[in-house]
Amino acid sequence: MPELPEVETTRRGVAPWVEGRVVTGVVLRQPRLRWPVPRTLARQLPGREILAVRRRAKYLLFEAEGDRTLMLHLGMTGSLRVLQAPRPPGPHDHLDLELADGRMLRFHDPRRFGSVDWVAGDPLQHPLLRDLGPEPLGPGFDADYLADACRGRRTAVKQHIMNGRTVVGVGNIYASESLFRAGIHPARAAGRIGTPRLGRLVSGIRDVLEAAIRQGGTTLRDFAWGEDQRGYFKPELAAYDRAGEPCLRCPGTIRHVVQGQRSTYYCPRCQR
Ligand SMILES: [Zn+2]
Repeated sequence: MPELPEVETTRRGVAPWVEGRVVTGVVLRQPRLRWPVPRTLARQLPGREILAVRRRAKYLLFEAEGDRTLMLHLGMTGSLRVLQAPRPPGPHDHLDLELADGRMLRFHDPRRFGSVDWVAGDPLQHPLLRDLGPEPLGPGFDADYLADACRGRRTAVKQHIMNGRTVVGVGNIYASESLFRAGIHPARAAGRIGTPRLGRLVSGIRDVLEAAIRQGGTTLRDFAWGEDQRGYFKPELAAYDRAGEPCLRCPGTIRHVVQGQRSTYYCPRCQR
């Protein structure tokens, strides 16, 4: 499943081809995605320039002229590709945006858990986005913010940082890795961690996400950007998927537990 680093890598990959271009046509072959694609999209988007491609959490925001935004989620198996010239669509190529320069942005999604919306006004006020926590790589996410968000919480810190209302985009692998980096036990109650240690957790989350973005993401499958540029990367994981192996930081051994139905990997000796 594309995680935040894959979505950000996608954004960086497609933005230079799409920003400043006018959409000349919309071909919607399959409107039944996670929820129906609005019929107004194909009528209203052509003729508008895409001013910017932004990201909020795992949503890509194609901001068009006239205060409208195409809001796209890659779901479980979605990918975007820029075609340098038209090419016949495959069975899971559900949406094409034809651009004035002859290129095409194509959305491919075999399992159709992705979504495409066409929203008026400020997309950050959309019901799917307005209640989300801060971006992990943005200025609003720091030790003081996280201390406020954790105060009085008895929830396990791992689950707390994976909750999008606390901070967005911290998936399971990144939660395990950042807690390992910060030396914090994943089951510790969020409200029982001091601000300096939460500061280390903030740094751990930023570092692990930035490393994944640099490498193009960890769980890439059908993701592609540009022309025939495919990313299949696996960053150095210090804890995740290393059960029974020696801790890289102390003489301990990495342990695997299931927490909230998700795999957690940690070192019981140096994470407290
Ligand atoms: Zn250790």
